[in-house]
Amino acid sequence: MSNFPIDTMSGVDPVSIPDFMSPEGMRALQLTKLKKLVKTCYERVPLTRRRMDEKGVKPEDIKTLEDIKLLPFMMKTDLRDEYPLGLTAAPMSEVVRFHCSSGTTGKPIVICNTKNDIEVWSDGVARSLAMDGIGKDDILQVSYGYGLFTGGLGLHYGGELRGCTVLPTSGGNTDRQLMLMRDLGVTVIACTPSYFIHLMDEAQKKGIDFRRDMKLKHGIFGAEPWTDEMRERIECETGIEAHDIYGLTEISGPGVASSCGCHEGLHVFEDHFYPEIIDPDTLEPLPDGEWGELVFSTLDRTGTPMLRYRTRDITRIIPGVCKCGRTIRRIDRISARSDDMLIIRGVNVFPSQIEAGLMSVDKALPHYHIYVDREGDLDNLEVKIEVTSETISDDIKSLELLRRNIAAAIQKIINISIKVTLVEPNSLPRSEGKLNRVTDYRKIKK
Ligand code: ADP
Ligand code: ZN
Repeated sequence: MSNFPIDTMSGVDPVSIPDFMSPEGMRALQLTKLKKLVKTCYERVPLTRRRMDEKGVKPEDIKTLEDIKLLPFMMKTDLRDEYPLGLTAAPMSEVVRFHCSSGTTGKPIVICNTKNDIEVWSDGVARSLAMDGIGKDDILQVSYGYGLFTGGLGLHYGGELRGCTVLPTSGGNTDRQLMLMRDLGVTVIACTPSYFIHLMDEAQKKGIDFRRDMKLKHGIFGAEPWTDEMRERIECETGIEAHDIYGLTEISGPGVASSCGCHEGLHVFEDHFYPEIIDPDTLEPLPDGEWGELVFSTLDRTGTPMLRYRTRDITRIIPGVCKCGRTIRRIDRISARSDDMLIIRGVNVFPSQIEAGLMSVDKALPHYHIYVDREGDLDNLEVKIEVTSETISDDIKSLELLRRNIAAAIQKIINISIKVTLVEPNSLPRSEGKLNRVTDYRKIKK
């Protein structure tokens, strides 16, 4: 990081210095790196070369950052079509680790990481932790799964780089997770938000009180969409601060972007990962503030470099500078993947809107599942929600009132009628990793 003016940044943690670069300095750095990336992809990735030739674009045509719009996109389908290694730009002797992303159908996608790629990725995670004030005095329990999925190893390497004491529990075995968390005085946990909610439930069953019995101060939650309302619920019930971390295997893993203490969006580590927001229909870049599809170019990656990779995640660049003083740009909380959008009677509905409505009602548990079906020509949307063990003993009238309040809160947001059913505690699916909250029978029946 020697190209940053360390002496003028007194008081800033050295790992965070790029977060405070001047926007002009950042743009200049990005342009230099982008030119190199385009040249590498043109020379070493046949698919990109072919597409650039078809468009009549040469690496020398990239003279400004805006010229990026001349370049072709990359998609998840490209990674599948080129399975397993067609997009690799480095010799295998330089690749130190594979990761795979599941996707929903068919073959996984394979990503090659060189030593440099692991360092860049770990830097993003370490800067995410630094942003939340986490450092060498912290004990970090990594309850994301270890393996082909990037969550576990991503937090592990980033946590070690940051100097934390890492406890690599991986997912599962909830009793042991809670025991170690308590006995070792864990101060930070990293896992999916849905798994943390599961840990909260199990702790409650065992009579463990987070404030009284644990030293936990921070949660690093990501890998799946979750809402601000869910964050407030977690913070209020456990007393910890819940942070949002975003990333994807195709670009590196967790630590592409992270929330700071202001909790107004996620800062993108844009010296490594160059963000754009495009209109998914016209594919034209959108100005700051407008919602669209997030696209990334990996400015430093050498194993499987990505040029204008379409993430299918929906967000916007938040205009203006964050109160924390960081100059790196922010994206809004990822409310949904475009693939998660449900079209119900012609209306677009995202599961996160349902969650936001639900969480605004007191006494509603954060365990819910969405069912979509079609009867004749009509789409039906049903949300099943677990009640708490205390609420279950309430009289029928109070339960009906709770049910109606939940339905009204959700309907106010999504503007279509919905069936709400209250179900018994522990009757809905739980997950150790990413939780699928939607069953769409219309797709299953097809
Ligand atoms: P897979 O594609 O198999 O699910 P990944 O772990 O690479 O594997 O998933 C990355 C995706 O997870 C992102 O594109 C995004 O949709 C989702 N994701 C990751 N972090 C977050 C987050 N903090 N908020 C919302 N969604 C997230
Ligand atoms: Zn900030």
